[in-house]
This record gives sequence, C-alpha cells and structure tokens, in this order.
Amino acid sequence: MPLALFEAAWPAPRGIGAGCTTRAGGASAGPYATLNVGAGVRDAPERVAENRWRLLAATGCEGIQWLHQTHGAEVFHAAQLPASPRPDDRGDAPAADAMWTERRGLALAVTVADCVPALLCDARGGVVAALHCGWRGATGGVIEATLAALPAAPETLRAWLGPAICAACYEVGDDVHGRAGGGAAFTRAGGGKWRFDLPAYVAERLASFGVREVARSGVCVSCDERFFSHRRDGITGRMAAVIWRR
Ligand SMILES: [Zn+2]
Repeated sequence: MPLALFEAAWPAPRGIGAGCTTRAGGASAGPYATLNVGAGVRDAPERVAENRWRLLAATGCEGIQWLHQTHGAEVFHAAQLPASPRPDDRGDAPAADAMWTERRGLALAVTVADCVPALLCDARGGVVAALHCGWRGATGGVIEATLAALPAAPETLRAWLGPAICAACYEVGDDVHGRAGGGAAFTRAGGGKWRFDLPAYVAERLASFGVREVARSGVCVSCDERFFSHRRDGITGRMAAVIWRR
C-alpha cells in the first residue's frame, strides 16, 4: 500500500501542504507496522530511515526537519535545510517541540502517537509551523512560545489539529487537571480520574491567544486502528504530522 497522507481539511492558502501519516505505506514490521517514523522506539533504524525517505518523497520537498522532542517549550527556527540530507539522521535534530520556517521546500515533521500535532500557517501562506502538544508541552508553554516566535500575528494564523487521542480514551489524574488549570476540556471519570479532551484544550489555548481559525481532524488515534496509539498499544510506532510551503 502506498504512503497516503491523511490530509488536513482546513482553509489553508494555496501553496501549503499539510497532513499526517497513518500506519499504511511503510516498511516496518510487528508493532511498528508499517509506517513508523519514530526513531526512539526501538524499531529497526534502516526501516525508520526507509519510512522517512518515503515521507519525504510524498511531500515533494527537498528536505524534512525533524526534532528531538522533549515535551518542553523550546521552539526551533528552521531557517535552512538540515545540514544532512539524510532524513534518518537524528544526530543534529534540535531539542525542541515546535518549529517554524518561511523556507519553501522544507517540510516540518513532528512525531505523535496520542499527543496533538498542531500545524499552523499564516493567511498568506508565507510561514508555517509544527508543534508537538502533549499535556506537558501544552500546559508548559509550547503554544505561546511558538506564537511569540512567529513573524506573524496570531490573528492572521490558521491551525489544524491532527489525529490525537480523544477524551473517552484519555483518563488522567488530578496532577494533569491541576497543571492545566481545569476547565471545559475535563469531565469527571470514575475513581477520582478525569477524562481529558487534549485536542479541545489545545484548540482552546490557541483561541485564547488570538488564533481564530482552528480546525480539528476529529479523529482519535486510539479509537481508529489506522493510527498508532501509545496508550492503546504500549510498544508501537509514531506518525508524523507534516507541513510545508511548496
Ligand atoms: Zn478514542
């Protein structure tokens, strides 16, 4: 099966490509079958490399910028193509959970398997950004740090939130509820737990900082077996959400 991106459905300007990979179209086996692009999950490195090459080909870009994601709030400015043309080279991947670029032909890729991938572009299509929003990053400032770094006002931005875990599949404790400051994204579950609608929380935060157009995929990676879900499967692969200027 060829690599087909789950395409972002959002009002992006012409010249912007965006979407998220699924499990289909890759070279990996077992729990990583088939399109694992995560380098830190004990899949065979040569297969991850092959999968990343296929993703690069699917975007039609000259290069892909990957990150060493840490659930923090660092934002990387991808000003040029990665030093190494190899999409499997993690050696120089910057430690950050968000990045942005104005450069055409450079795809930005964040890896996810439950966390919310957020893709942004401005209304003129001159700048794009990709964020990895787990609960730690989302409550820890990665969204506002990215908006502060971008050379475009939040009011001019559009956002797409890709496939991520839904509230019914995501029970959390008081610690997460407290860190997030509670709010409408939480509903009571049994046993002192909360159901956390992480995509709703990310959408709410983007809106609170002035991003007016936030589209959501509506797809849960745990409910939908086309995707990897760490919570559902434990040992599993990672999807990539990608955005680029053509
Ligand atoms: Zn679900």
